Amino acid sequence: MNIILDQPTIQTKLKPYMGYSRGGGSEEGAVLIFAHTAREAKKLAFEELKGWCFDQEWIDVAVKRLKGEWLYAETDQEKLKNNIPHVIDSPTGCRRCELWGVKLNEEGICEDCLELEEDFNKNDLEKTKESVDATN
Ligand SMILES: [Zn+2]
Repeated sequence: MNIILDQPTIQTKLKPYMGYSRGGGSEEGAVLIFAHTAREAKKLAFEELKGWCFDQEWIDVAVKRLKGEWLYAETDQEKLKNNIPHVIDSPTGCRRCELWGVKLNEEGICEDCLELEEDFNKNDLEKTKESVDATN
């Protein structure tokens, strides 16, 4: 299923944030949050992270504002429209590196992985050329 999203059609006051534990780092598990303010996002992140790890401390929870209209496709459109702050505990990530919060292509691969792939193909091509040159 393709979700086609036009930024101007999104009528919401909610902004996307990433919530994570500073101690664990954002790689250890982060949640996508839609909230009005960073403070509200932090509250939601804290509640969520506490469920994962009972000794999660308030000061250890960090939130980061995310940008990108594709993030809005991840979530409950009704909640967005009604401006109900909420958490998404497992946002769709890149199929290769599992990173999320970045733009993915139609195959679900992020730009970083695509770049790596291009470099890899380029190197491969050059190597083939070299071995052809060597045989001549
Ligand atoms: Zn990736």
